[in-house]
Amino acid sequence: TVITRFAPSPTGFLHIGGARTALFNWLYAHAKGGKMLLRIEDTDRQRSTPEAIEAIIDGLTWLGIDWTGDTIYQFARAGRHREAVEQMLAAGHAYPCYATAAELEEMRETARKEGRAPRYDGRWRDRDPAEAPAGAKPAIRLKAPTEGETVIDDLVQGRVVFQNKELDDLVLLRSDGTPTYMLSVVVDDHDMGVTNIIRGDDHLTNAARQTQIYRALGWEVPTMAHIPLIHGSDGAKLSKRHGALGVDAYRAMGYLPAALRNYLVRLGWSHGDQEIFSTEEMITHFDLDRVGRSPARFDFAKLENINGHYMRATPDAELLAAIDQLLPHLPNGAAIADALTPERRRQLLAAMPGLKERAKTLVELIDSAGYIVKQRPLDMEDKAKALLTDDARALLASAHDALAATPDWTAAGTEAAVRTVAEAKGVKLGAIAQPLRAAMTGRTTSPGIFDVLAVLGRDESLARIADQAN
Ligand code: GLU
Repeated sequence: TVITRFAPSPTGFLHIGGARTALFNWLYAHAKGGKMLLRIEDTDRQRSTPEAIEAIIDGLTWLGIDWTGDTIYQFARAGRHREAVEQMLAAGHAYPCYATAAELEEMRETARKEGRAPRYDGRWRDRDPAEAPAGAKPAIRLKAPTEGETVIDDLVQGRVVFQNKELDDLVLLRSDGTPTYMLSVVVDDHDMGVTNIIRGDDHLTNAARQTQIYRALGWEVPTMAHIPLIHGSDGAKLSKRHGALGVDAYRAMGYLPAALRNYLVRLGWSHGDQEIFSTEEMITHFDLDRVGRSPARFDFAKLENINGHYMRATPDAELLAAIDQLLPHLPNGAAIADALTPERRRQLLAAMPGLKERAKTLVELIDSAGYIVKQRPLDMEDKAKALLTDDARALLASAHDALAATPDWTAAGTEAAVRTVAEAKGVKLGAIAQPLRAAMTGRTTSPGIFDVLAVLGRDESLARIADQAN
């Protein structure tokens, strides 16, 4: 069976590119009836933090990406990694290297001068360790092949050939005995039974080096798929401005997890020209042969469109639940949560069909629902205040009386009442509707004003109008 893994280094937030890698691993595993594992690559003790581990786990959970079994922590397996090195030493596939820091620096310096990538010159490869200075602690290096080729048959990149003479003898264990990333990844993937490695194509050279380690250990090499990185909309490397943010930032911007998942699956993968996929459809159709070789471009407008689609397709009560979950992540969220009394929750639910028609994100939706949670007397935006001239206040007073008398407190009923006033006063509907909007919402833009009246109900509406009327 297929076993994939997501193997993030917990050194920052769960980056949007990492989330896509996780999703591809998850989909591939599920498409093939296999499973995905989660391995936290926390061997860099300086840069790994518990907050980053939490951000990864929270982000995946929010996105609905789960994994089989316990989360694996790489650092805890250092003993096992050393064991594998013992095996390579015993088989003559690894050797102790006593090159000093100064010698290594000299090799780097020479490479710099010659304008080529630095490489270790193999000076301890065939040397007798007895020649080492007493008490010196060696690093352990792989005795890599010096001739021939290392070939990766990559499911996305195709056949990728590396000349072995270009690859030097990499360090497996540092002189302090700590395993390197290159070694740990190989040993863990082997021990976890990983059959398919799916990750960013920035790991392609690592794949060649790791392949050499697999061979030295006599282990089968997993099938690799290196997916192109995500670029910005202008084709440049993804930066913060382009959307290189943590998954938590997308959550706080008010995207629904299902929408972000749908957006991410289309970043680099396609199935005809279909844009919207249910999870089941993704699993049915996902395969690596439809992952392109050129970088996907991150496009906020497309993400917003997909999110708008999911918002409209989500039942109102579920959207309310999503808002409840989002509020703790918003700067003004606690105040809004406090203001959401059962009565106002009911109003919010009643307003939802109109709200979700316009909003592209939950944050936009909450913003345009702001009138519901406001307390009287409303604080007014300056532009709204400016609408409330003496004439306007007088018109509001007439509208108030007509509305108070109407038996039909619906959007249609309140509109009819206000129209009658406008006709009687010889003004356009807008001459009343605009100050009415200011009085009801404290703003100059809002959902349809008669929907606002219907949602807030007779008592609250009349009170807000009376607050501003003359
Ligand atoms: N820990 C590596 C990273 O976060 C990924 C290693 C792998 O997928 O092999 O870049």
